[in-house]
Order: sequence, then structure tokens, then C-alpha cells
Amino acid sequence: MLNFKNINGITLALFVSLLIFSFFFYTSIFVFITLFILWFTITIIGSFNIGWNYHLQAFNSKKNHSKREVAITFDDGPNKEFTPQILALLKRHQAKGTFFFIGKHAEQQPKLVQQIIAEGHTIGNHTFSHSNVFDFYGKQKVITEIENTNTTVASIINKEMKLFRPPYGVTNPAITKAIKHTKHHVIGWNIRSLDTVKKDEKEILNRITKNLNPGAVILLHDSQEITVRVLEQLLLFLQENNYQSVTIDTLYNIKAYA
Ligand SMILES: [Zn+2]
Repeated sequence: MLNFKNINGITLALFVSLLIFSFFFYTSIFVFITLFILWFTITIIGSFNIGWNYHLQAFNSKKNHSKREVAITFDDGPNKEFTPQILALLKRHQAKGTFFFIGKHAEQQPKLVQQIIAEGHTIGNHTFSHSNVFDFYGKQKVITEIENTNTTVASIINKEMKLFRPPYGVTNPAITKAIKHTKHHVIGWNIRSLDTVKKDEKEILNRITKNLNPGAVILLHDSQEITVRVLEQLLLFLQENNYQSVTIDTLYNIKAYA
């Protein structure tokens, strides 16, 4: 399996072999540099693709799922303006979703946190600050980000969240160690809508629907207007194709709270 541990093991074995070889035969330094570049490239790609399970095992999609269920997930909220619109759409279509909160946003929107729970959706942890240098944090700082978010949400709804989604879907050894400590389930996705990047709602919708299969986990953001419009179309598509949108914990039959 292509993961961090195996790649390190293989790279080390190749390095030692090359080193021994170089004692007896001329070996260019570029062979060593190439080996390092290969290791580095694979590790960078693996770190940016949560679906690879390179650093840790995440729930990215339920393979061979027998029911026509998918899980729609929303990151970066709760948002005063757009989360209520998302909730109204979900209600109208009797769909359930999973919301990964930024802790500082949850702190500002306690009523929305309560409403999301009251309407039967699931919530998860998406760090407290969602810093764009989060991926350079050490283990302890990652733990603090996760624990602060859990504490903030627990003070509002008295539930200890067990689902965690890393910002940008990036994973690394510090996050792996932090998760071992906090014992969260890591939730990834297999359908990245690019709703924060693309400007055309048809294009975003098409990215989601073209490869949709039972058990899919879809990534959206309840922090912007275009997602509301995409969701409206997506829920119609799901209905026409007999799909049901369920929460992550329903899809996987796991516990979302401690
Ligand atoms: Zn995010």
C-alpha cells in the first residue's frame, strides 16, 4: 500500500543499498538526489490528497454501498448568512447533511449550532482557527485547535464531537499523532466540488454529478452564495435519481459524538 510508512521504508532501503553500491562502483550524486526528489514528490501529493490515506486512514467514500445514499458535507461554517439558506433547502428536500465547523465561527453563531442539531444534521470539528499555516503546526498545537473547537461546541449543545475534517484536506505526521491522541474519526471526501474556486455553478454541479455513486462523500462550503445555488440543483438531481442524502455517521454507521 502506498502510504507514508511504506514509502519511508522503501526509500531508506534504496538509500542504504545505493550507499553500499557506491562504495564499490562509481555512483553519481544525482542518483541520490533523484531518490530524494521522488520521495518528496510522493509525500507532497499524498499529503494533499486525503483520499490516498497516505498519512492516516480517513472515511472518504463508502465503497460498494448497497443503498442509494450519499453524504453532503459543508465546511467552514456556521455562517450567519448562508447556513440558514442551506438548512432551508435541506429541509425542503428532506435531506440531511454534515457540517464541519470552524470553532471561532461556532462561537459567534451558537443559535445556528443549535438549529443544525435540532434539524437532525450532524456536526464535526474543522479546527478552531482554520489557519492557512495549520499544516505547519506541531502535534500539540493541532491538539489545542481540535480541543478548543470541541469545548466551544460542547458549551453550546453539550455534545462532544468525534468527527474531524482537516483544513484543505491536508494531512501530515503532526495531524496523525494529534488524532491518535484525541481519537477523532477523520472524514475526507471523494467528490471535491471546487465550489470555492470555480465561478460557474453548472461546472460545479457537473463536477459533483458526473461521477456520483452510492456511498459518495461530497465536499461543499456553507460560507458562500454560489454553494446555495449549486445545492438547490444538486438536491433536485438527487431526487430525480433516487438518491438520499444522509449524514456521515448514518452512511458509515459510526458514532459522531462521544
Ligand atoms: Zn475548510
